[in-house]
Amino acid sequence: MASKPPIERREELVSVYREMCDSHACPLRDVRTKLVFGAGNANADLMFVGEAPGATEDQTGLPFVGRAGKLLDELLQEQGIQRSDVFITNVICCRPPGNRDPLPEEIDACKPYLYRKIQLIEPKVICTLGNFATKLLTGNPTGITKVHGRPQEREVAGRVIQLFPLFHPAAALRTDSVKQLLREDLAKLPALLAEPPEDPEADDIEQLGLFQ
Ligand code: URA
Repeated sequence: MASKPPIERREELVSVYREMCDSHACPLRDVRTKLVFGAGNANADLMFVGEAPGATEDQTGLPFVGRAGKLLDELLQEQGIQRSDVFITNVICCRPPGNRDPLPEEIDACKPYLYRKIQLIEPKVICTLGNFATKLLTGNPTGITKVHGRPQEREVAGRVIQLFPLFHPAAALRTDSVKQLLREDLAKLPALLAEPPEDPEADDIEQLGLFQ
């Protein structure tokens, strides 16, 4: 099926944002300042999914604008990737009090909206930042330390996508060795993005046996 024209995609994303503002049933709705929907390029091939907004994000309504976000920007720029090239969002869109871990009911309330963002943006690669995003989107409880830096092809929200698990930049801020691993993993991104897209009909065509 042909992809949506960029303007249409952007408009639909704005309507998902409006719907989320009006009817998102997250238990954190009343304690957050701003909903942090996600930001960036609605036509991006590359999407990042973090954990949850922090204090700066809660005040501004924008994802990854605090210290962790600045580090992410810096490491992406080393690979020639700018913020404006990517779309960034989180597993949950409201800040948990005191930056505690997201609870299952908060994740459940945000999950349908995350999937709709993925369906609309149609990224080729999704970098999952940290354990929460990685476990949610891979559907596997294995932690980030074991799975970081290796792409996994998965069906997410009805689409075949390369998931690329990465350490969370906040963890990289705390530990230099983690920062180095994050930097090394991000260096694999340009090649991953350059890989040809999956052909959904490739298996059917192969079954025709035309090339035997
Ligand atoms: N950490 C996250 O996971 N997301 C943000 O938006 C900011 C910090």
